[in-house]
Amino acid sequence: MYGGHIGIALAGKGYRQTIPLWLLIFASQLPDWADAAGCASGVSSPPVEMLSHSIPAVAVLAGAIALLYYAARRDIHASALVAMIVVSHMLADYLTGRKPTWPGGPVIGLHLYHWPAVDFVLESVVIFAGWMIYRRSLPAERRQSNPVILILTVALLLQGGASLGFALFPGVSKC
Ligand SMILES: [Zn+2]
Repeated sequence: MYGGHIGIALAGKGYRQTIPLWLLIFASQLPDWADAAGCASGVSSPPVEMLSHSIPAVAVLAGAIALLYYAARRDIHASALVAMIVVSHMLADYLTGRKPTWPGGPVIGLHLYHWPAVDFVLESVVIFAGWMIYRRSLPAERRQSNPVILILTVALLLQGGASLGFALFPGVSKC
C-alpha cells in the first residue's frame, strides 16, 4: 500500500491530536523505511522483507517506536496508537501485496497491485476516510482551509502516481 498508509496516519492524528503528523506518517511507513534501509545496506539473507514486513519484524518496529515515543512524551495511549499505526502498515500491505509472515511461514496477501485501478480506488477510499477523521478533529473554521485541502490533494496525487506506475510498469520490484 502507498497513499493508504498516509490516510491511516491522518486518522491517527484525528484520534490523538497531540502526536505530530510527521511522526504518524513516518510510523505508518516504518516497515517501508526499514525495507529501504535494508536494500541500501545490501542485506540479502534473510530476505529484506522478512526483516521489515514479517510479523516479528513489525512487532519489533512497533515496540521500538512506541518505547521511544513513551520515553519522549510519557503518554501511554499515544504510544500505543503509534504502535498500532505501524501494525496497520502490515495489515494494509496484505491487501495490496504479498508479504512473508515469519521465517519458514507462508507468504500471504491479496496482491491488489495486480489490478492498479482497484488498488487506486481502495487506497483513495482509505485516504479519504482517514482525512475525514482528521478533518473532523479540527476547529470548524480550519476544516475548509487550504492546507487541509492540500493534504488530501497531495495524498491522492501521490496515490494516482503510484497506481499509474503499477499500471505502466507491472512487476517492478522495490529492490
Ligand atoms: Zn510496506
